Amino acid sequence: MAGLSDVFRALRYSLVSTLYPHTCGACGTVLETENETLCEDCRYSLEYIPLDVDLTEIAREMTQVQLVRFMPLLSYRKANIESRFVLNIKNSGVRRYGIEAGRMMGRMINARVDASEFDCLVPVPITDKRYATRGYNQSELLAIGIEQETGIPVRTDLLINAGTVVNDSIDAKRHKSATANNYQATERADEMRGKHILVIDDVITTGKTIRECSSAFMEKCDNNVKVSIAVVGLVSDLLDIKRDREALFTKNIFDD
Ligand SMILES: [Zn+2]
Repeated sequence: MAGLSDVFRALRYSLVSTLYPHTCGACGTVLETENETLCEDCRYSLEYIPLDVDLTEIAREMTQVQLVRFMPLLSYRKANIESRFVLNIKNSGVRRYGIEAGRMMGRMINARVDASEFDCLVPVPITDKRYATRGYNQSELLAIGIEQETGIPVRTDLLINAGTVVNDSIDAKRHKSATANNYQATERADEMRGKHILVIDDVITTGKTIRECSSAFMEKCDNNVKVSIAVVGLVSDLLDIKRDREALFTKNIFDD
């Protein structure tokens, strides 16, 4: 028989879910279970990049950075459910989407490599103004989820985004947003000499962000630092990735 507290819990949940229904982070369907992130259909139909596919060389070409590893979770195309998931991680205001995606990334990282080779996780920072508007940095949520699965510590004190508001309307149009990014390694980044940093971002498109973040660390550490990248989404239209929908790891990524 359910205790009184269970009844209250269920009641509270039903009230909360009526006001704020838990919806799938990819397709938006209402979920029946509390704290779920993706519906069953999306969980198993997301296009995961097979674990035995190493795209590091392609990422090196895109970013012009001598990355040690490049570890993307999903292949991403315009308007597919993977891209909607990434957009929701960024803009929906639902933080658990980012944390859960981070946990999926953490399991993917554990499946690919020995996570102890990385000394820290550095989420790509957003500008203060963007942070104030959005209330969180999606890459930081991802990093929190990755830390939960891998034990690699998150460091948000090594890299800042000193980007400023672009007031000039022509410039704003050119940047397609009101701010321009300006990544700078902090004084503390000097501690990373001889170490291995895993930079975390939501999606890689042109490689520009990764190039700029890596350059900031390389400069601060006189090139004596290793940099790897993990992202949720990789724009696969640009790459001819052989897809393997039968991949067994789809299940592994969700196993706790
Ligand atoms: Zn769904």
